[in-house]
Amino acid sequence: MPGFEIFSDEEKKEVNDVLNSTVLMRYGFDGMRNGHWKAKELEKALAKRMQSNYAHVVSSGTAALTVALASAGVGAGDEVIMPTFTFVASFESILAIGAVPILVDVDDTLTLDPEAVEKAITPKTKVVMPVHMCGSMADLDKLKAICAKHSLLLLEDACQAIGGTYKGAPLGSIGDLGCFSFDYVKTITCGEGGAVITNNKTYYENAHMYADHGHDHIGMDRGAEAHPFLGYNFRISELNAAVGCAQLKKLDGILALQKRNFTILKNTLGQSDKVNFRRVPEGGVENYSFLNFYLPSHQLAKKAHKLFGENGVDACFYWFDNNWHYYRKWEHLIHKTALGKLPHEVIDQLPDYNKTDFSSSDQWVSRNISCLIKLGWSETEMQERANKMLAVISAL
Ligand SMILES: *Cc1c(COP(=O)(O)O)cnc(C)c1O
Repeated sequence: MPGFEIFSDEEKKEVNDVLNSTVLMRYGFDGMRNGHWKAKELEKALAKRMQSNYAHVVSSGTAALTVALASAGVGAGDEVIMPTFTFVASFESILAIGAVPILVDVDDTLTLDPEAVEKAITPKTKVVMPVHMCGSMADLDKLKAICAKHSLLLLEDACQAIGGTYKGAPLGSIGDLGCFSFDYVKTITCGEGGAVITNNKTYYENAHMYADHGHDHIGMDRGAEAHPFLGYNFRISELNAAVGCAQLKKLDGILALQKRNFTILKNTLGQSDKVNFRRVPEGGVENYSFLNFYLPSHQLAKKAHKLFGENGVDACFYWFDNNWHYYRKWEHLIHKTALGKLPHEVIDQLPDYNKTDFSSSDQWVSRNISCLIKLGWSETEMQERANKMLAVISAL
């Protein structure tokens, strides 16, 4: 990760197909397209790779989450359970449809803690949204059982975990709906883009219509299409989808490179008894985009992260202090600061995140360091980085 490291002639050819046709729009213009339908091609390939019946590609991962929620009928006042450790897109997508984000602790997997999920369920809960952060997953069997027991939807945010698996199934394909991001730094990239996958025909039909102003996509004349319900524009352009077509073909190669570099780093850091690795639920296989480990205390983790930087080891993250990924720094959510008025359901139901106790999340995230695994690092470079990191940790 990220996929832009391996851009080559394939991406250029796909983009040139589109530019030469002059059709940047994913629908219509049939006579001018020279047979190129990049968004549709990407959807077909993605559905196949993810062993899902349907895929719909949209303009971003955030859009994918919004479209997924809307397509399953989630709306104003519905509660969506999401983790304290994720990207701001999780609560943005929930708020965008007037629903209420209910933050819940993460455990040593760095994703939703099933026990905390069960405690957070109310009569208004509609969805459980695990976020497979940094390439690895929540305990999906446990979450599935909770969702079945309480008749809730399971929506997987697999934006950072494309290519990982759980009990043999691709991440994203296990819940009722799954979402991916193809933004500029993701494992595979379109520049900006995202996707929703599902086996549910109704959700899929809703998704493609909702993401295109409610157009029903029936018949050859866009101007004559009906609009069965209100929608928005979350369409991807053909240019972005074209890049995605080339990148998806490289996914398995990317995963193999990441695994090689991840394994070198893990084997080296594992020599220190100060290091414990993130728990991966039984039957889970990461996509190896990050290596996550815990140090014995908050202070040591913070110090090690600083020393890595000073010793030229970049691309390591200390999420506990990060503005985008951990609830402590989401002051706009905590203070309910919006440009206009928030829906009254959100105002009434949003917990006071100033007072909520997330000490269970803190005990994991404050001790965690997360190392990005780049594709461009040779085995020798990776081993050198790993040795430097081990030396820093050993001297703590
Ligand atoms: C990147 C990301 C998103 C949103 O994707 P964009 O394409 O940047 O909108 C959502 N969730 C997670 C966990 C992400 O990492």
